[in-house]
Amino acid sequence: MTEATTSEAERKMQFLYALRSKGVMNGRVLTAMEKVDRGDFVTGHFADRAYEDMPLPIACGQTISQPSVVGLMTQALDVRPRDKVLEVGTGSGYQAAILSHLARRVYTVDRHAQLTRPVKQYFEANHISNVTVVTGDGSFGLPEQAPFERIIVTAAAEDPPGPLLAQLQMGGIMVVPVGQSDAVQSLIKVTRTEQGFDYEELLPVRFVPLLEGLGQN
Ligand code: SAH
Repeated sequence: MTEATTSEAERKMQFLYALRSKGVMNGRVLTAMEKVDRGDFVTGHFADRAYEDMPLPIACGQTISQPSVVGLMTQALDVRPRDKVLEVGTGSGYQAAILSHLARRVYTVDRHAQLTRPVKQYFEANHISNVTVVTGDGSFGLPEQAPFERIIVTAAAEDPPGPLLAQLQMGGIMVVPVGQSDAVQSLIKVTRTEQGFDYEELLPVRFVPLLEGLGQN
């Protein structure tokens, strides 16, 4: 084994260790995260920090989330192999790539075409055919594809958006950061039941805001 491959293996082990130490225990989630190289989603200036457990800047003033938060959100989402999943907030495409290994079908929406374009290219180049990348305002969901068994929102809203609640399958789960400000947000797990919606607060988080309409680019 060459030195380069040893250090790559070590880096991967450290990455997975950091996830476990933050509470990402689910075997399917860890396996999916092992398969997806975060280095493919962080370019330019911050590329060499891709394996650190921290959020990093991407284009359009947005961020790729912290790996342990991605892991905890994915774990809370409890994706089953037959599920159709909606992600609002494609960003770098990292979360969508992880979901592609867990779900039957993934729809991911971002308001910036400048972000969705390279993500589409990533899935094409890697022959991943169960992800559809859409440019649009994801706060309205994708009514033509609804209902979804699972919905994950990776930008913070004041409340879980009504259209997304409406597009959640009975028994389905939505994970969404909610908060009144940029500084104080909670990750919420919403479960749709026959009686309505159950809400569970999971952990404090910090996400960029869910904005209305399409981005400038
Ligand atoms: N899940 C991403 C990180 C998302 S950052 C990853 O794995 O890298 C949040 C993203 O939400 C940003 O790219 C931002 O453009 C997007 N966003 C904000 N409001 C939105 C909206 N209404 N509809 C779709 N995307 C939105």
